[in-house]
Amino acid sequence: MHRTSITQARELLQQKKLSSVQLTEAVFARIDQVEEQVQAFVHLTREKAMQQAREADARIAAGDEAPLLGIPIALKDLICTEGSRTTCASKILDQFVPPYNSTVVEKLIQAGAVIVGKTNMDEFAMGSSNENSHHHPTKNPWALDRVPGGSSGGSSAAVAAHECVASLGSDTGGSIRQPASFCGVTGLKPTYGRVSRFGLVAFASSLDQIGPLTKTVADSATLMNVIGGKDPRDSTSANVALPDFTQALQKDVQGMKLGIPKEYFTGGIDPKVEKAVQEGIRTLESLGMKTVEVSLPHLDYAVATYYIIACAEASTNLSRYDGVRYGYRTEKSDNLVNMYENTREEGFGEEVKRRIILGTFVLSSGYYDAYYLKAQKVRTLIKQDFDNAFEQCDVIASPVTPYPAFKLGEKLSDPLQMYLADIYTISANLAGIPGMSIPCGFAEGLPVGLQLMAKHFDEASLITTGHKFQQNTDFHTKEVPL
Ligand code: GLN
Repeated sequence: MHRTSITQARELLQQKKLSSVQLTEAVFARIDQVEEQVQAFVHLTREKAMQQAREADARIAAGDEAPLLGIPIALKDLICTEGSRTTCASKILDQFVPPYNSTVVEKLIQAGAVIVGKTNMDEFAMGSSNENSHHHPTKNPWALDRVPGGSSGGSSAAVAAHECVASLGSDTGGSIRQPASFCGVTGLKPTYGRVSRFGLVAFASSLDQIGPLTKTVADSATLMNVIGGKDPRDSTSANVALPDFTQALQKDVQGMKLGIPKEYFTGGIDPKVEKAVQEGIRTLESLGMKTVEVSLPHLDYAVATYYIIACAEASTNLSRYDGVRYGYRTEKSDNLVNMYENTREEGFGEEVKRRIILGTFVLSSGYYDAYYLKAQKVRTLIKQDFDNAFEQCDVIASPVTPYPAFKLGEKLSDPLQMYLADIYTISANLAGIPGMSIPCGFAEGLPVGLQLMAKHFDEASLITTGHKFQQNTDFHTKEVPL
């Protein structure tokens, strides 16, 4: 029962062949069975979830047809949940209990979702492996000696291991798509501004977006219908009409143009990953899409540009953790300044400190023009690359990552190697466009993702393309060996 998708569960629930209490119990039984191995969660909200399940059953009995009624969903632990801990996998927020819900959580609750718990992540979403979590590393359910990816590694592992029906993650530089690819699930990063960031703990505010991790593209359409839309509490949320994304599932891809960026297939990519991605592209061709070669010439600058801008924004966003307003405070201080210093020294992990230092440096007078300002100019060039490419095609296809899930510990001592692996995902964040990862094959038993990208606010084309792909392939239905 725990293996169900949103679409399947919804049908069974509405036909009263299954109750939300039964489904939620099945999901928690699965958690009891596999969580010790996977460690996808930071904490579970079991009692509250059972309560929500009972309420959902009452609503179903009364004829309510809300889109997520009774469906167990997990949340990355940087999405604020009123009355339950939101730690960002950091010591500095370890005991932080938000007094309010994020907008996405309010929308989920309104839509009837059952909240299973909060999932593990890299501290403040900085990382690609979940090894930067203050709590514990999450394991990849396909191979327990491998990372699930990051930073939404807990959210993707929980979906792959069926410890929830779907989850939400966040993507600043690939953090939904890369773990989706590593764990063999579907991950969608919406257009910047499509989903409210109110109540999302900020990492890099001009890049962060919340999005769904699901078992199918159809499920991501359902979740996007619920979480998308303008929010008066987030001034960067866009006032753009929210289409019914489930309608995009009915459309055909016949005649749609698929752009293949030539720069994304040169060197550095594992041949087995490239083969799976190329076969994925051929499948889309066989379904009626026309491929055209496109060029995204500034790809080589994307990693440097991203790490300058993301660190700069992080250094300002994280200045609020001062031992006064939120969370952890040092016990070793005799004046205000060393209270700040010791709180931050003790409360932040290595990677977070590295980024605060980098970000402070690139914003400092004398270096601002050479680094931050220049990075902003390159960001504009990267966005223009996509504008030009989308004059020739509707959707762009590429790899998500250069290689499949790596071993725990393998890249921990080399942050640069870890950063370079973000090469294919971060351009979409810099340009603000939507991107999706769908399972397209395996490399030595580990899942490989195919990335699809589209124009601003055209998630519908990703959903149409991804759904057509899943109707004609079975990679997304393969089971983890747990
Ligand atoms: N690997 C990226 C980083 O470490 C992912 C960030 C993200 O999308 N949250 O910054």
